[in-house]
Amino acid sequence: MAAASVVTDAATEVLMPGSEDEAIAAFGDGAEVVVVGGGTIVLPDLTYRRRRARKALMLGGAGLAGIETQGSRVTIGTMTPVQELVDMPAPLGPCAANVADLEIRSQGTVGGNLCAREGYEAPRGDLQSAFLALGASARSAANGDVTEEPLEDFLPKRRERLLLGVSFDEPAAGAFAGLDRPHTHDYTALAVSGAKGTDGTLRLAATGTGSWGVRLPSAEAAAEDPVAAGEAALEDVSPHDDALASAWYRTKVLPVLVRRVLDELKESA
Ligand SMILES: Cc1cc2nc3c(=O)[nH]c(=O)nc-3n(C[C@H](O)[C@H](O)[C@H](O)COP(=O)(O)OP(=O)(O)OC[C@H]3O[C@@H](n4cnc5c(N)ncnc54)[C@H](O)[C@@H]3O)c2cc1C
Repeated sequence: MAAASVVTDAATEVLMPGSEDEAIAAFGDGAEVVVVGGGTIVLPDLTYRRRRARKALMLGGAGLAGIETQGSRVTIGTMTPVQELVDMPAPLGPCAANVADLEIRSQGTVGGNLCAREGYEAPRGDLQSAFLALGASARSAANGDVTEEPLEDFLPKRRERLLLGVSFDEPAAGAFAGLDRPHTHDYTALAVSGAKGTDGTLRLAATGTGSWGVRLPSAEAAAEDPVAAGEAALEDVSPHDDALASAWYRTKVLPVLVRRVLDELKESA
């Protein structure tokens, strides 16, 4: 069945798919489509004409929300509200709890957070670091083709594909540390997530250090010495200035957050 559609004006056709298949068909090749998850970012962008849409794809009725666990494998639908993650183990739970406030977390979705474009004044997409640290894979579609790939590979193409969900194996241990200062209001200037897999693999990732979340391979390689790992993390990032913090400040704080995460992982091992 084709997605229901409403033409609001000459410029925007609103598509309301009732299933995953309909959503994939309505997205097509993604050209001229603006995907609307919870809308906390995209609706103000459309309202204030920072973005224009020939087609707006509303995912609310497509049945893409929910958290499923099969053995140690966890799968989270793209439309799951961020608030539903807050009680999950670290790094995901504390990372989600650190996003904005209850109102935004209840409306904002996992997919919207992971696919958020670069912010105008503050970093967005905090969940990227937690899912990267968990070694998550992303299931996404374009041109009717559904692919599952490492989140790391998906993030650079997140504007071109429809995210359907993310999956990961429950870690043996996890940790999260964020830069919280009163004047940063509800946004996170910088954050680091870490997770140790049941096979001993350690992954570290950061948000607030570039256009989107990144793994910290140099810090991972030096993880036995948290102080050295903190300094090594600077090789993996290109911090910039924005309204929340300067690049200089971020280079001072990142090593501290990496150290905290590694210390916490050691304690919980
Ligand atoms: C006051 C305030 C505080 C905030 N604080 C934070 C914060 O601390 N940390 C943080 O990370 N964010 C923060 N945000 C930003 C935002 O609210 C969250 O990132 C939220 O999770 C975005 O989800 P959403 O579903 O509302 O995204 P939407 O606005 O629906 O979409 C965001 C982007 O992702 C695209 N998109 C959505 N779903 C998909 C999909 N399934 N496939 C492909 N593309 C998709 C949209 O087209 C759009 O470009 C804040 C926002 C506000 C207003």
